[in-house]
This record gives sequence, structure tokens and C-alpha cells, in this order.
Amino acid sequence: MLDRSEEEVQEFVSAIVNAKKNLKYCSKCYNISDTDPCNICDNPKRDNSILCVVEDVKDVVAMERTHEFKGLYHVLHGSISPMNGVGPDDIKIKELLARLMEGEVKEIILATNPRVEGEATAMYISKLVKPLGIKATRIAHGIPVGGDLEYTDEVTLSKALEGRREL
Ligand SMILES: [Zn+2]
Repeated sequence: MLDRSEEEVQEFVSAIVNAKKNLKYCSKCYNISDTDPCNICDNPKRDNSILCVVEDVKDVVAMERTHEFKGLYHVLHGSISPMNGVGPDDIKIKELLARLMEGEVKEIILATNPRVEGEATAMYISKLVKPLGIKATRIAHGIPVGGDLEYTDEVTLSKALEGRREL
């Protein structure tokens, strides 16, 4: 910063301010976007009968990198963690259920992180959706336990998607 001219720094700052101003959450999937609905929800080529449920916006980016998934997303913005005082109402589960009630979704892929909290969140959601007659699958092979979707390479993530199982 010290080596830059004041103008350069000013430009940099206003670029950040603009980005902050224009970015919002998609009102359908809660991904970050500069449009609402976001480009993914708004894309008619995507399959709206299948939802990939992830913890974080960064996980959407990771999934998109695989080019394997053609459905839509739902970003929970966290995972259930009683240890940290995060309950089901603190993440976007109500919003997910409201979406599922619309009746278009036939399958949800629970792609929460393979950690205790992510597993607990996946189990919780799978129990909620069973009575709705929606298939709930969980990503499986490949992702190391204790790992982060965000840092998983495309091949591993593709395998995990292929190897998903019904809960
Ligand atoms: Zn969206």
C-alpha cells in the first residue's frame, strides 16, 4: 500500500465499496450474487428438480468447478453446532423447507462438510425431508474426514458426487 499512489489506493477502495454495494444474497438459494435471482437459479438449462445443499457460498464455487452438477443449490450459511450455540433455526433450513414445499424438487444432495457438524446437519435435514417424499442423498467417497469442500480438488469432488448414497 505504501508504494502505491494515493489515486491507486483510492481506486482500490472504491472497487471494494462498489462490490459490497452491488453484492446481495440470492433470495432463492442464498448464494452471493450481483443479481437476484442469481445466475445459477436464473439459468433455464439447470435442472430445478435437484438441489445441492452446501454450508457455504465458497462450496458453490467448489462444486461449480467440477462441471458435474447441473442442478441448483441451497446455501445454509453454516451447520448445526450445539457446541457453538448454532441450532437449526440459525441457518437457512426453514428457507430450504419452504423451497421444497413448492414441489419441484425431487432430490436433494446433502453436500455439507464431512465433519461432525456437517454430518449432523445432513442427518437433521434428511429426516425433515423424508415425509415430503423427496430423496435425500449424501456425498460420500473421496472427501477426507475433517476436510473442507472448499479446498478439495475437482476430481475428488466429482467422485464424491458420483458416489452419493441415499440416507
Ligand atoms: Zn440463486
